[in-house]
Amino acid sequence: MKPLSLYIHIPFCARKCAYCDFASWPGREADWGRYFDEIEAEIRLWSEETDFGLLSEQYSIATVFIGGGTPTLVDAACLEGVLDACRGIAPFEPDAEITVEGNPGTLTPEKLAVCRRAGVNRLSLGAQSFDDGLLKALGRIHTAAQIKQAVAMARDAGFDNLNLDLMYALPGQEMAQWRDTLDAAVALGVDHISAYSLIVEPGTPMAARVASGAATVPDDDAVNAMQREAISRLSAAGYERYEISNYAKPGFECRHNLTYWRRGDYLGLGCAAHSLLRGRRFHNPDALEDYLSGMRRLDEVALTRQDAMEETLMLSTRTARGLDLAAWARDFGAPFNQGRERALARLEAGGLIEAGDGFLRLTTRGMEVQDAVVLELMGETV
Ligand code: SF4
Repeated sequence: MKPLSLYIHIPFCARKCAYCDFASWPGREADWGRYFDEIEAEIRLWSEETDFGLLSEQYSIATVFIGGGTPTLVDAACLEGVLDACRGIAPFEPDAEITVEGNPGTLTPEKLAVCRRAGVNRLSLGAQSFDDGLLKALGRIHTAAQIKQAVAMARDAGFDNLNLDLMYALPGQEMAQWRDTLDAAVALGVDHISAYSLIVEPGTPMAARVASGAATVPDDDAVNAMQREAISRLSAAGYERYEISNYAKPGFECRHNLTYWRRGDYLGLGCAAHSLLRGRRFHNPDALEDYLSGMRRLDEVALTRQDAMEETLMLSTRTARGLDLAAWARDFGAPFNQGRERALARLEAGGLIEAGDGFLRLTTRGMEVQDAVVLELMGETV
């Protein structure tokens, strides 16, 4: 049996955050019931024979990630129903990692108890900042105090694998505020921290504020300084940086996300969910209406060898483990350094890559310019 990861998208939120361009909508309570009916119908489809054969004969489910949106906004019994239905797709591994993403403003002990009963063993909380002023500017619905309450509530409910998502490079954010946020997350003793730099997405209220001059985002040097602050503070506190934006205490790396970075098979359910199954990529529609009307499996394509090489390089170099050189030679029929000798020498001399133990990995500086390093290794001019 091969391991399979499932991603389930819950596209509902209490309010839209100022920076968010994810497939998520507030005020769509009237659609919740129909949406869960559609997801369960989609799960039934994958529980039966498809052109991929019967998944239950080929896979066991190693990880499930219920993300959003705000999965903890809806009735937890709906999440339980979805998880139960997923057992029809393939058997769950006994130690399957099952994550639910939650917003600290929407948690209750009752919802957490239902999640635990359903087998959820990892909770990922969108904290973003411990500064109430910044939380307000981001349009978050919770305060810093609520993040602390949510962590305590999750521990009380029996969660021993907790992640906090944090954001830096926020408009007006000072280094001291970022340090305070990192220290507050560490003080809560969570097992995993994701630290993402804010990307100002076109069409969001945040983009309009930046365009009008009402908000200013930090320059690249300031962004890199904040990232380095995260690396040093979190590593001093016992978190290992195992991916560009992800830090974990030993044994708490997110297995679901490792599936993406290692190009394992995953099936996405719900609107805007993406899949990679046996070398084919496809996705569901981004628009809720299209998903509700039954549209599925868009832009399906069998990846070419070149696609697979580019993805492998792009994703593996995000991780501290790096690119597995023996696996590359096996999968693509030629050593990685063949034809790349000069680019490799240039990048190594520039302190952007290092090799050892059969892996090629990016240095801290290399990770700051990962796109450019990957382009150079793919043979393009940067
Ligand atoms: S809670 Fe998350 S998904 Fe919902 S609007 Fe905010 S950032 Fe977007």
